[in-house]
Amino acid sequence: MMPAHLHELEPYDPKFSPCEINLSANENTHGLPTEITDELRQRLSSLELNRYPDPLATQVRERIARLYNLTCDNVLAGNGGDELLFDLFLAFAGAGRRVVLSTPTFSIYKMYATMLNCELIEVARDPETQKSNVAGLLEAAQEASLVVVCSPNNPTGELIAHETVEELLDVCSGIVVVDEAYVEFSHPNASMLPLLSKHENLVVLRTFSKAYALAGARCGYVLSNTGVIAALASVRQTYSLDSVTQALAQLVLDRHELFASSISDTVSERERLYEGLSKLTQYSPEVKLWPSEANFILVRLPQASKIRERLRDEWSILVRDFSAEAGLTNCLRITVGTHDENSRVLEALTSLVKEEA
Ligand SMILES: *Cc1c(COP(=O)(O)O)cnc(C)c1O
Repeated sequence: MMPAHLHELEPYDPKFSPCEINLSANENTHGLPTEITDELRQRLSSLELNRYPDPLATQVRERIARLYNLTCDNVLAGNGGDELLFDLFLAFAGAGRRVVLSTPTFSIYKMYATMLNCELIEVARDPETQKSNVAGLLEAAQEASLVVVCSPNNPTGELIAHETVEELLDVCSGIVVVDEAYVEFSHPNASMLPLLSKHENLVVLRTFSKAYALAGARCGYVLSNTGVIAALASVRQTYSLDSVTQALAQLVLDRHELFASSISDTVSERERLYEGLSKLTQYSPEVKLWPSEANFILVRLPQASKIRERLRDEWSILVRDFSAEAGLTNCLRITVGTHDENSRVLEALTSLVKEEA
C-alpha cells in the first residue's frame, strides 16, 4: 500500500533522551523571561478557548508587519517554521518540480521534497570550508521551482552572501527561500529582508523557536510579496495557530526587547565555547570546527558517535550527532547553552577527547 516515493521516508525523530543538559536542538536554554510567563498566565484566564482562533492570526501578523515596516499582506504566520516550509513546498514545488538545496543543511527540506515527489538537486558544500558551491547553485537554480538556502546554515553555522542570494533571485524563475531561523544571533546586516522590495520571488522565513524561546509553542512566519503570501494562505491548514500560541506570540512581539540579554549572552558564550573547543586540537589533529553565526557550533572530533554516547551516558549531556551525513563525517553539533552548561560541556569534551584521541 505504501507509495514508492514514501518508502525511504522515516518519521522525524531527533532522538531526544532525557538528560540534565540538553544542547541538541538549538533551543534558547535560558527559557522565557518571567515577565512573559507572568503575563501569559493573566492572559490565559481571559482567552475564550471554546471559540475557534483567528485563522489568519491577524493580531500577530500586524505586529510582525509593524516591526519590519511592511503590511499585514506581506506576512503569514504558521505552526512553526516547519509548517510554513511545508506550505512553500506544497504551493511552489510538488511532484516532478525541481527543488535545489545547498547541502548539508536542515533535514526537513529534503524530507518535504521526498514526500511531495519533487526533483531534488543537492548541491554539495565544500566539506573542508562548508562554503556553498555558488556556481553549482546558480546553474541548478535556473530550472528550479524552489531554491531553499539556510542562513546561518543549520548545522554548519555560516551565512550566505547577499550577492549570492541576489544572483539566485535573478537566475531563478521560481521562488528563493532564505531560512533565517538563527539570524538573530548574527550581525544586524545579516538578514536578506532589505532585498524584499527589489525581488518578487524572495521569501524570508523566521521562527520564534530559537532566539525567542518558544520551541514548545510552535510559531513561525514568512515575509514576502503579497502574491506569494496569498498563495501560501490558500494551501495552509486553517486553524494551525491556536489561540494560546497567538496570545503568546503577541506577548513576545510586544516585549521583544526582553530577549536582548539572552541573545547577546548566547553570542558571547558562542565565542567562549568556540575558544574552548579550539583548544581540543592539541589532543588530536582530527579536531576541526567551523565559525558559527548561529546558536550552535559544528565540531569534528575523533570517534564522534562514541563521544556523543559517552557524553549522554556518563555526563548527562545531549548533543546532536551528524556523523552519518554526507560531508559531516565525525561531526557533532553543540547548541550554545547558558554559561554553566557550556562550561560543563567543555569539561566533558576535554576529558573524552583526551581518552578517545
Ligand atoms: C529550527 C529551525 C526551523 C524552524 O523551526 P520551528 O520550530 O518549526 O519554527 C526552521 N529552519 C531551521 C534551519 C531550523 O533549524
